Amino acid sequence: MDLDHARQALKKYFGYDAFRPMQAEIIEAIYNKQDVVVLMPTGGGKSMCYQIPAITLPGTTVVISPLISLMRDQVEGLKANGIKAEYLNSSQTSNQQKEIEKAFFEGSYDLLYISPEKILSQNFTPILKGAPVHLFAVDEAHCISSWGHDFRQEYTQLRFLKNEFSGIPVSAFTATADKLTRKDIVDQLEMNNPATFVASFDRPNLSIEVRPGQKRLQQIVRFIRQKPGEPGIIYCLSRKSTEELATKLQKQGINARHYHAGMSPQDRMECQEEFVNDTVPIICATIAFGMGIDKSNVRWVIHYNLPKNIEGYYQEIGRAGRDGAPADTLLFYSYADVMVLEDILRKNESEQTEIQLAKLNRMREFAEAQICRRTILLNYFSESREGSCGNCDVCKNPPQYFDGTVIAQKALSAIFRIRERAGINMLINVLRGSGRKDIFQNGYHKIKTYGAGKDLTFAEWQFYLRQMVNLGIIEVAHDQNNVLKISPLSKSILFDNKEVQLVKFQDYRQRKEKQAKVKVSTKTLLQQELFEKLRQLRRTLAQQNGLPPYLIFTDATLDLMAKQYPLNDRQMLNISGVTEQKLRRYGVAFLHEIFEFAQQHPTHFQGITYKITEKLFREGHSIQSIARMREMSPMTISSHLAKLYEEGAPVDLSEYISAEEIDIISGYLKVLARPFILKEVHQHFDQQFSYDKIKFGIAHYNKEANIGA
Ligand code: ADP
Ligand code: ZN
Repeated sequence: MDLDHARQALKKYFGYDAFRPMQAEIIEAIYNKQDVVVLMPTGGGKSMCYQIPAITLPGTTVVISPLISLMRDQVEGLKANGIKAEYLNSSQTSNQQKEIEKAFFEGSYDLLYISPEKILSQNFTPILKGAPVHLFAVDEAHCISSWGHDFRQEYTQLRFLKNEFSGIPVSAFTATADKLTRKDIVDQLEMNNPATFVASFDRPNLSIEVRPGQKRLQQIVRFIRQKPGEPGIIYCLSRKSTEELATKLQKQGINARHYHAGMSPQDRMECQEEFVNDTVPIICATIAFGMGIDKSNVRWVIHYNLPKNIEGYYQEIGRAGRDGAPADTLLFYSYADVMVLEDILRKNESEQTEIQLAKLNRMREFAEAQICRRTILLNYFSESREGSCGNCDVCKNPPQYFDGTVIAQKALSAIFRIRERAGINMLINVLRGSGRKDIFQNGYHKIKTYGAGKDLTFAEWQFYLRQMVNLGIIEVAHDQNNVLKISPLSKSILFDNKEVQLVKFQDYRQRKEKQAKVKVSTKTLLQQELFEKLRQLRRTLAQQNGLPPYLIFTDATLDLMAKQYPLNDRQMLNISGVTEQKLRRYGVAFLHEIFEFAQQHPTHFQGITYKITEKLFREGHSIQSIARMREMSPMTISSHLAKLYEEGAPVDLSEYISAEEIDIISGYLKVLARPFILKEVHQHFDQQFSYDKIKFGIAHYNKEANIGA
């Protein structure tokens, strides 16, 4: 088997033109019967690496997967592409299982998904021995490692694959990157000198943004309103806050639900299903949500609170945009969240506490950083990278520094005068001259700097004070209720006017305005409108077929359809993600929708007018009748046809010009200098040919000349 076959299968069964980085190498290694270990981020395209060998090699690939809830969807997806796949697990009746076992034994499947319990069960072994298995693929292979976060006891027994079936290669796939886990996988599966592939963990289609956590609800509502109908997840820290937030969003007319591990299994299942089927697009959830969900068109993820560590954060934002189409992520940051998390960690004191606190600190540094956020994330995962990514808030809006000496002096002087006895909020209230009771009780309204910082908002002060903490000018006494203290560094600022450079505060609204200046043209607005129509159509078809919408076409595929507006089968098949099978099943409906839409906006779709003519002509309408239908002159329509023909579109003009006539006209064109002037050629033949025939004759001549050239 070679890679050409693999590429053909990729096009035929998945509609994709090229492999993603590493996929081809991995498939080649599997073809060479090597054991392989693959580390790729979620959405990187791991499944393709075993699905292509499964389809192209004789026999069956057995996929061991711990997530029973995912198997059905995966198998449905494969079947929708015309691939012979089934699954075996405890959710099926024993009769169902027997039937599938028999078919598997007889080699009827390209792929069999199976739970670890099932493959380890005694009475399954003889079936496995008799079936034509060519590959074992262990999905979510990190479950084998007790270092990992998802340890499964049964996974540790999977070494029996190598022990009992030494001739069959084993491949292992995971999105968990660390080295210990990787070593565990190789050791425990007793793999033979496996080829290891570590893909980049970068997800360039995810935008990354961090905003101060003020007025979160308001910000979230605005964010959602800008993305009507797009599926997204909002992660909250507590069960209670998922419920509260969902209720608040519902009150604003937003279709949202909550999800957390305290709900009944029934409710949880229902919630997941509604999300997967796009009936409820927004879920407010604890981090329990998302593990068992294979939904590729999540368009955004919001973190209402700061996550505990970068691993968790990256995994959670990774649930967005798995189809490769652009997706947005937004993290709200406030220092109060850090303190809450620290408290939680300290209360559950264990050996791990120090490590966890350190990880939380890295998370905080990330949120406060003024350099490219993607760079920080990838470096964290030991993937070195430099420069700006262009798709995070810092890169889109590089920080502007200014002389913040006066601001720093005001803050330091206030801290000094209230004798280092107040936390950050109290300090800000003093600086802004607030009339709060506690200020008067403490007599802080009498100090010299009371009200000296009125010119700045609360949010601005927070932003600048956090920077001063990071610069080491101010210290936070964690052991004394987080009161602020003056550091040795600050003396020269207070007394010698040492300059302090601060990053200018930018309200997220100001930032948004800046970004909005990149004008949206009508064309992209129309593309969005068409995309929306296609999405509606997909939802209807999904309901009719009892499938999740993304299994019909992914968002990325719909996006391409909206951009390229295919109008015939050939053009449709050129769209990445459209297979022959899907074209047959759903093609007509989508082509129809696109055509209707384009027809309503002929001036905005470049070349659409030609395509409309082509479509009608190929449906059998004459030049005259197309002209009538389109309210255009027949001359215009025949010019369209001439151009289409010249460019190789499959329009058959034989009814309008004979081969003989073409010969006669070509004979004259041969001796004529370019450019050909229609009127002159027409005159030369002295009424012998109509203008249309001359046009078609020239088109034919040009086409031949092009081919010859
Ligand atoms: P993973 O298992 O690594 O999370 P998937 O295998 O689910 O990722 O793939 C994520 C998405 O990328 C799917 O929609 C899949 O169809 C798509 N995909 C995979 N390989 C390719 C490719 N070579 N070209 C285009 N899309 C691809
Ligand atoms: Zn960046």
